[in-house]
Amino acid sequence: MSAIAKGVRKAKSRFGGRLEPYFRLDLVLYEGRSDMMTVTSVETVAAHPRLREHGGALDGAARACEAVARIFDDGDPHTGVYHLLANELALLDADPARGGAANQLAFRLKLLLAAGLAPHLGACASCGESDHLTAFSGAAGGVVCTACEGAGFALHEEAYAFLVEALARPLAETPTASERALRQAERAIVETVEYHGHIRLRPAA
Ligand SMILES: [Zn+2]
Repeated sequence: MSAIAKGVRKAKSRFGGRLEPYFRLDLVLYEGRSDMMTVTSVETVAAHPRLREHGGALDGAARACEAVARIFDDGDPHTGVYHLLANELALLDADPARGGAANQLAFRLKLLLAAGLAPHLGACASCGESDHLTAFSGAAGGVVCTACEGAGFALHEEAYAFLVEALARPLAETPTASERALRQAERAIVETVEYHGHIRLRPAA
C-alpha cells in the first residue's frame, strides 16, 4: 500500500530516521480522501542495523521485497507472507553473509508455496511416474520423468535435491548447492512463475 509521511525532512520530525527501507515498523495510517494514506505515527519493531551495513544483505533484502511485491500485488493482507518476509529480513540482519542465491531461491520457493504455485516435486508432473525424474517442465508445473522430458529441461539430481530440501526446511536451514544446481533451480522457479502466475521475477542474485 502507499502512504505519505509529511514533514520528514524537518529536523524535528517525529518520524526521525525510521521511515527507511527494510525497517520493520508498526505504523498508524490515516485514510483520507486521496488514494494515498497519511502516516500518523511510527514505532520501530526492528531496524536491522547489520543488514543495512552489508552490501550483499541489502541486495538480498531488496530482491526479497520485490519478489513479494510482484507475486502478491493484489492489495489483500497475506499474514503468512508478511511473517516470511519479516523472518527473511531478520535472518539477513543476524547473518548478513547469508544473502545470496541459495537464500533467495529458498525464499522464493516459500513464496510460491504461499501463492499456491509451488512446483510439483514428488512425482512426474505429467504422468505421475515416481522414478527417473530427470527434467523440469514449467508448463507441467514440476519435475518430469525421462519419458515426458521432451516438455522440459534437464534437472540434475543436485538441483532436484536443493528444490526439495529448500521447500521442506526452515529458511534458516537453507541448504547450499553448486552454482550449476542453483542455476537450474532458479530456472525451475522462473518458468513455473511465468507459466502459472504470469509473473516475471528479477534474477535471484
Ligand atoms: Zn512422466
